[in-house]
Amino acid sequence: MRFPLHITTDMIKHQLRHGLKGHKRYPFVLMLEPLYTCNLACLGCSVERHTGRIEDRLTLEECLKAADDSGAPVVSLCGGEPTIYPELKGLVEGIIARKRHIYLCTNGLLLDRTVYGQIAPHNRLTLNIHLDGLKRTHDQVCDREGVFDNALEMIKEGKRLGYRITTNTTIFKETDMDEVEALARLLREHQVDGMLLSPGYQYDDSVESDFFLAREEIHQKFQRVLDLSKRYRLTSTPMFLEFAAGLREYPCSPWSTVTYTPQGWRGPCYLIGEKYYQTWEEFWQSVDWNYWESRQDPRCYNCKMHSGFEASVVLGLRNSLKDMLRMAVWNFLE
Ligand code: SF4
Repeated sequence: MRFPLHITTDMIKHQLRHGLKGHKRYPFVLMLEPLYTCNLACLGCSVERHTGRIEDRLTLEECLKAADDSGAPVVSLCGGEPTIYPELKGLVEGIIARKRHIYLCTNGLLLDRTVYGQIAPHNRLTLNIHLDGLKRTHDQVCDREGVFDNALEMIKEGKRLGYRITTNTTIFKETDMDEVEALARLLREHQVDGMLLSPGYQYDDSVESDFFLAREEIHQKFQRVLDLSKRYRLTSTPMFLEFAAGLREYPCSPWSTVTYTPQGWRGPCYLIGEKYYQTWEEFWQSVDWNYWESRQDPRCYNCKMHSGFEASVVLGLRNSLKDMLRMAVWNFLE
């Protein structure tokens, strides 16, 4: 099975519950950024909003209220670096007590100090470790030597201790896809439970970037990712990968992945912080979802992010029996 059965059944129940209430839009994932402090300064990270000050963090109560307000079955803890968050243990326990699933997104540097031996493995907790390539590339992206070796050690140790571990890799213009395949091979040897490959994309289409991908470049790189998905355990759905490879189209579902930060609810989406809202009600009712679903904003032109489109894939299954069967085979049998 691609995902543990309880995650799949919780997601199906969540959709049924909202479907029965006639809801068209509802969150699947809460991206929770409890703090804007990090122990690295990686290339491609949106550090412009990071203050770096630990006191600028959300309280534990604010974090748990965000989980309650959104009702999302999956909570992705990101940031900043969530393993620095002083209230991490209480936060993980509080989210698990609400029967949600946690993806703890981390660079891995502090796992042995603030997670291993402090927070027990749980079937609702996945450690999602950032790895943008093999040693040379990853250390270069993280702007520090030794980060790759440390992450790999933490993966080995985490698996030994019984944690569920996935990885997250961003693909940039210079990413060598043979290296991505070598990384996928290495991670398979270490029995990593899944690998997420995301495009690092260029918001402003009028500016040529040396680093971020434009739409056609994403299509090219993701045709190779589509090929890799036949041999390695990637966590993106086959339809999403076809979308990223330019082989099919979807509207965006920006409401499916909502983001709460020390500045408030970020709207309209995880990627574009056009405005921050202080309450859930204001956020949910004020964002012009019709506009952002249509992808007519110039900043959406190159976007092929999971946070906008995986929910569109899931909702689109009801229109295609073939896709529904493919999805079932992908999730349950591959
Ligand atoms: S297309 Fe991308 S940038 Fe635009 S609203 Fe959707 S997720 Fe945000």
